[in-house]
Amino acid sequence: MADGTMRAWSVLKPGPVAEGGLRLVEKPVPVPGDEELLVRVRACGVCRTDLHVTEGDLPVHRPGVTPGHEVVGVVAGSGAAVRGFAVGERVGVAWLRWTDGTCAYCARGAENLCPASRYTGWDADGGYAEYTTVPAAFAYRLPGGLDDVACAPLLCAGIIGYRALRRAALPPGGRLGLYGFGGSAHLCAQVALAEGATVHVLTRGAAARRLALDLGAASARDAYQMPPEPLDSAILFAPVGDLVPVALRALDRGGVLSIAGIHLSDVPPLRYESELFYEKELRSVTSNTREDGREFLALAARHGVRATTHIYPLSRASDALRDLGQGRFDGAAVLVNDLS
Ligand SMILES: [Zn+2]
Ligand SMILES: [Zn+2]
Repeated sequence: MADGTMRAWSVLKPGPVAEGGLRLVEKPVPVPGDEELLVRVRACGVCRTDLHVTEGDLPVHRPGVTPGHEVVGVVAGSGAAVRGFAVGERVGVAWLRWTDGTCAYCARGAENLCPASRYTGWDADGGYAEYTTVPAAFAYRLPGGLDDVACAPLLCAGIIGYRALRRAALPPGGRLGLYGFGGSAHLCAQVALAEGATVHVLTRGAAARRLALDLGAASARDAYQMPPEPLDSAILFAPVGDLVPVALRALDRGGVLSIAGIHLSDVPPLRYESELFYEKELRSVTSNTREDGREFLALAARHGVRATTHIYPLSRASDALRDLGQGRFDGAAVLVNDLS
């Protein structure tokens, strides 16, 4: 097992990335708890939530936390109670880090709603480091056909997009509308297309509309336009409440709109007749269960779901976060460990 010290990024004082709130520091290599794995990080995806943690948009849960919750690494050690993982085995570490397993939500299979849940890179140190830890029960085994960089964005953007797709209750061969087309949506679209859906993308950016058509979308229009046909289901990825009535009007009778984001600007008043009547449904999406993650990773491997990625060395994590905040790249940034 590794010991001694390692280098890790730490949110010393939440604030703008450009002002140096995220610092590369020396920390002790973490010691895994009884039920945890020690993971040597090989790659870690950069998620917008890391930016929210670094800049203080989310409250501080752990002072000096190391962000990063799309971690691909190898097992470097384990606690005494861990069974079934070998040193050197590749694993994934994602956002949902721990649930109590005993509350009413956990008991009915909705651990994503557990009030005691803990999150990687917010409540506990994450993957912007040489090493991290994860409770073994929350580590993912990763499909063999995908390299480290390809796997990393699947672990948050991919899993959340997948849960949003299932919450949208798309019928087989149905018509799906995607509002916004960033990291999560472009992975979700690939799953829906592989399952036989007709996908219509409604988004602001011309580059995102081109990517949508390249991936096989039937149409790509501005977010406030109507799709060319009524939708059985829609998913709102853009954090824009104004789009809720727009998407509801685009639904066919009995259609479902699922809202994928953790944040959404205020929703304007809805008109019952055109936006809710005929049994249209509006649903939110909160985090994910481990079952969502396992299902999605298996589907991603089977259907060859691929993120558009931009590689940064781990030693330049703050540059990657700054570039994300400034919208300097499409797709997903992935940090590759150049520190060890
Ligand atoms: Zn994330
Ligand atoms: Zn619970």
